[in-house]
Amino acid sequence: MKFENSLTFAKAQDSHDTLSKFRSEFHFPKQNDKVFIYLCGNSLGLQPKAAKEVLNKQLDNWANLAVEGWFDGEEPWMFYHKALKKLMAPIVGALETEVCPMNTLTVNLHLLMISFYQPKGQRFKIIMEGGAFPSDQYAIESQVRYHGYDPKEAIIEVFPRDGEETLRTEDIVAQIKKDGDEIALVLFGGINYYTGQWFDMSSITKAGHAVGAIVGFDLAHAAGNVPVKLHDWGVDFACWCSYKYQNSGPGGISGIFVHEKHFNGDLSRLAGWWGYQEDKRFKMEKGFVPEAGADGWQVSCTQVIPMALHHAALQIFESAGFIQPLRNKSINLTGYLEFIINQVNKNLGVEQYKIITPKNPADRGAQLSIIAAEKGKQIFDGLVAQHVLGDWREPDVIRLSPIPLYNSFEDIYQTGKVLLEVSQKILNR
Ligand SMILES: *Cc1c(COP(=O)(O)O)cnc(C)c1O
Repeated sequence: MKFENSLTFAKAQDSHDTLSKFRSEFHFPKQNDKVFIYLCGNSLGLQPKAAKEVLNKQLDNWANLAVEGWFDGEEPWMFYHKALKKLMAPIVGALETEVCPMNTLTVNLHLLMISFYQPKGQRFKIIMEGGAFPSDQYAIESQVRYHGYDPKEAIIEVFPRDGEETLRTEDIVAQIKKDGDEIALVLFGGINYYTGQWFDMSSITKAGHAVGAIVGFDLAHAAGNVPVKLHDWGVDFACWCSYKYQNSGPGGISGIFVHEKHFNGDLSRLAGWWGYQEDKRFKMEKGFVPEAGADGWQVSCTQVIPMALHHAALQIFESAGFIQPLRNKSINLTGYLEFIINQVNKNLGVEQYKIITPKNPADRGAQLSIIAAEKGKQIFDGLVAQHVLGDWREPDVIRLSPIPLYNSFEDIYQTGKVLLEVSQKILNR
């Protein structure tokens, strides 16, 4: 697409956009009646207007049915997660049996590592991206210690080359080959939270399997953002949160994926009653027998309230045709933001804003990570004061993420205008 830095161009794009109607299904934050341009869906997705209604419905069910709500009413809670599985599967390219909503993300990462990190003999190492999200670093470090290893020996982080901001697939694959039969687990983010780089998940999976390792992904920044094919790529396991690109509310329910090739294995797991064979769960018998599929990893009873929010949010994805139509728009929207930021640089006469996210759309999702040459934090605060809301990540990145479900090309054009004004003021240019 050939971009132009004009309101006319932006409005024309919006008028051709078949997804533009979904914008009105979300609440935008406001301050003194001024609506924010919201570019922070990478951190917390906006609230669907339907959220209140589905919550009220479940509160009514609770009020009117009380304990009978588990088996009575239109949507008995006992089977409530099944409706979600149907909507989750297409978002991550999985079979319905391979996904299940449960718990929260870091908890699921731990539960899945109990099953999939099985160090033995010389095969005890974990390969991960350098600069992974801190929660993942802490989870992995503690798992390694739990098994009695020293994180310094057992965890291998792959970093970008000197002078580069993002990882090269060839370097990841080379590291996997190098450590070969010492690797128990390859565990990467789908998209790195800081740089916005989308890793070549298919190549990483192949390389991991070629040396006999298990391969898992944390899709916090990928699920609902980019099309992934967990089943076809043969990924062993994955988990993600629903409150970023999937708009399901702060602390919302997380999702897990377990590839069907593991359904009949003898994986260890931390069991609870909700993972027990469904039709015999209430026999309350001794001796854990897991339900088939990903459902067998459930521990506690269905979290109906956060699942109701997730359900409402995923129904919007379903109306939009799930991921591919959103991805098509996302490529253009983020491409437009990249173009607009470069226009701001041009107008300032210096490269004040350096985008560290890969240029190739195949290597990124919605997010652009921007490093300001001067006064980054002050400029970020200036943007917020002018009602443009992205987020700031220490030490020096501004993250802006246009979301195809609710952002418009006009949002991007206006962001450029505000960024130029704020920069001129703060930099005295
Ligand atoms: C957002 C995010 C988390 C957050 O984990 P919670 O358990 O939901 O608090 C973890 N890992 C990654 C990679 C993230 O992006």
